[in-house]
Amino acid sequence: MNATSEICSACKRREVFFHRPCSGQRLCKKCFVESIEAKVRATIAKYDMLSFNERVAVAVSGGKDSVSLLHILAKMERARSKASFTAVTVDEGINDYRGEALEIAAAECRKLCVPHHVVSFKRLFGFTLDDIVKRKRQIGDCKLTACAYCGILRRRALNVAAREVGADKIATAHTLDDEAQTILMNIFRGDLGRLAKEKPVTDEVHPKLVRKIKPFCEIPEKESALYAYLKKVKFQASPCPYASEALRNDFRSMLNRMEEKHSGTMFTVFNSLERLRPALKEVGENRHFEECVECGEPSSGGLCKVCELLKQVR
Ligand code: SF4
Ligand code: ZN
Repeated sequence: MNATSEICSACKRREVFFHRPCSGQRLCKKCFVESIEAKVRATIAKYDMLSFNERVAVAVSGGKDSVSLLHILAKMERARSKASFTAVTVDEGINDYRGEALEIAAAECRKLCVPHHVVSFKRLFGFTLDDIVKRKRQIGDCKLTACAYCGILRRRALNVAAREVGADKIATAHTLDDEAQTILMNIFRGDLGRLAKEKPVTDEVHPKLVRKIKPFCEIPEKESALYAYLKKVKFQASPCPYASEALRNDFRSMLNRMEEKHSGTMFTVFNSLERLRPALKEVGENRHFEECVECGEPSSGGLCKVCELLKQVR
């Protein structure tokens, strides 16, 4: 370290590696890694995400955020956390993409000694995502993007996978960026129902619907990526071939530009929803779930969205 290098504001010993603009912290590599792990533990405690003896299915796609989350939760388990973890991966059936992610997810689980369970669209629904997109395009139905179909089916697949491993909760690696994007997307759509259900811990609305927790909801995506890099976590870097179609990309670009100019924007969006929560209570409570007349899974209407989509495809 040379005489002019700046010293970490936490340990006061090592050289600064990262500047956190919204808090003013200047951290060395070690203190940065520890700050992320401490933040995740604090988020879990703040929102009361885990209870004693709970089994948690960790959604691991093979991307940087989900593999980093798995590393942190596995470390917590080794330190005698009150919960136990199983990784679950959804294979949507995306050619030249998901295969690599599955291998990475399996290898990281072996390394961390975490059990790993895979569910595929093909097994659950009879079609891969590629099949569905192809069929939709053949019949000239381009109303929704591949990501919209993927979202509907992946939510179901994850819920089924969690039940198959006997999980009480599903932990997803949604970052602060994801949360801020989702909040704005719902506001732009005027979808108050979805805005109300957007929570760090989802409500218990149906016995077949496993509750979700988001331990990374206060971690910016940039910091999650840096954590993965410093911890030498293996993850899939190549993007999904359908990713460019996602509406979310526009919100991501807009929020990134705002964050660049006005540091703390994403936290403000996230915290605004937390403050609005009491006003949205009534909207959230009016959500009603019954069972789909066709598949018996939770649905807000007679036929669930999954069965509706599969009917069109068939
Ligand atoms: Fe699914 Fe879209 Fe994500 Fe690809 S980018 S995995 S299609 S949601
Ligand atoms: Zn159904």
